[in-house]
This record gives sequence, structure tokens and C-alpha cells, in this order.
Amino acid sequence: MSYRNVHRPAISRSPRGLARSHRRMLSQQHKRHVKRATFRDCGRRCVYCGTFLGLDIATLDHVHPLSRGGDDAPGNLVAACQPCNQLKGSLLPIDFFAKYPWAGANFMRYARAVHRTLKRGARRAVSLHYARAA
Ligand SMILES: [Zn+2]
Repeated sequence: MSYRNVHRPAISRSPRGLARSHRRMLSQQHKRHVKRATFRDCGRRCVYCGTFLGLDIATLDHVHPLSRGGDDAPGNLVAACQPCNQLKGSLLPIDFFAKYPWAGANFMRYARAVHRTLKRGARRAVSLHYARAA
């Protein structure tokens, strides 16, 4: 027997179907969870300057900025300190690492959970910079 025509209500996977208050709570919880996991994956450091951070002063940075078409995927999130986050602003990772190769070097070392495309880009930008300097 085929179950194709049996009506099954779709289970809502997104918080869209939930009440507004619940939705906000859920997303805040989710955010906290994501922040903590990212923080842990980055070794409790700022991935750009390498200084140790407390969870309270760490900020989440989108490696590929949201304003340039990046997303909220875990592979695009790293922990960063406030000054580095501000320094990076909405620069693309390639431009940022080309400008500040020390940030790229630390990024390769500490941003372990980041997407490998981003890592590859960082490596390329840093090595390009040093090739040009030599
Ligand atoms: Zn930093």
C-alpha cells in the first residue's frame, strides 16, 4: 500500500509556526548556543589577533560578511574580539587578510571549524602578501 495520498500535516522545522514570544526565546537560546559552540571551536581566542577572550567580551564575526552575501552557517562564524571585529568591518576575508596578514596567520591557526573554502582563501591571501613583500 502506498502512503503517498495519506494526509500528514507537515511538522514545522522553522520557528515560524510558533508564537512570537516563543520564537524570540528560541532564537535567543539558539544564538547563545551558537556563540558558545563557536567560541569553543576557536579555542576561546580571537581568531584574528589570538588573544584569549572571555565569553562575555567575545563577539561573533561573520567571516564572509552578511552585507556581502555571507550567511549564518556555523562554517562562517568565528569568535573575535571587539577591536578586530571593528577592524574587519564589512571587508571580504580576502581583502582583510591581504591588508593584515597577521590576522590571516592567526585565522589559519585558530579558526578550526570554519569552512575550508574560507581557510583556503586566507592561506592564499597571506602567502600572496609575503610573496609580494619578499
Ligand atoms: Zn582580536
